[in-house]
Amino acid sequence: MKKITIAIDGFSSCGKSTMAKDLAHEIGYIYIDSGAMYRAVTLYCIENGLFEGKSIDLEVLGRRINDINISFELDAETGRPRTRLNGKDVEDRIRTMEVSSRVSIIAAIGFVREALVAQQQAMGKEKGIVMDGRDIGTTVFPDAELKIFVTASAEIRAERRYKELQEKGEKADFAEILANVKERDRIDQTRTVSPLRQAEDAILLDNSNLSLSEQKAWLLEQYHKIAAL
Ligand code: C5P
Repeated sequence: MKKITIAIDGFSSCGKSTMAKDLAHEIGYIYIDSGAMYRAVTLYCIENGLFEGKSIDLEVLGRRINDINISFELDAETGRPRTRLNGKDVEDRIRTMEVSSRVSIIAAIGFVREALVAQQQAMGKEKGIVMDGRDIGTTVFPDAELKIFVTASAEIRAERRYKELQEKGEKADFAEILANVKERDRIDQTRTVSPLRQAEDAILLDNSNLSLSEQKAWLLEQYHKIAAL
């Protein structure tokens, strides 16, 4: 079977990472969570005092962007990748509401996207990769052989995120999460650089009413159709 590139894009909290991770594991591909990279840059900005309210010191960030090193390391126990920022494990710290509520601001900055897109393209040079995000099928890998665009209603997405936070024992407020999901959709779709949109050749998947196993079966079928060609 030939090695291909798989791009999974879509709205926030659609379960893209779970499906991308599972698929990569199943078919022996590398998995890259591009959202984790934007989250890591956001965490860097928070921890280094680059935010003033909702605005960001573009000059300092511009000078430091190439010194922000993001990598992934497989967790031996779970087999899942953990995000590292300048060598330190930040996997848990990048998933907080504080980061979620600021990441779209960072992701709308042109030079941040340029730097991260270049790193993502380098990671996918050999193919055999599943990457999920917002602009993977449109900007990062426009020639990907398989492109999926995932969507689900904002309420269902907020509910999934709410449960996820609760299971982790974190404080979760449904109304706040729903507002965050909607606000991220708005910023992601209306930003001028690489706005979130479905690539023309992407397959649309609305998973509002699909179970994880139904979704997995559907995805594997799409992969086999293309990889067998
Ligand atoms: O996928 P996740 O929700 O973790 O992504 C966090 C944020 O990073 C998104 O809301 C979006 O603003 C940004 N992002 C992006 N382009 C990507 C991946 C994520 O703009 N390829």
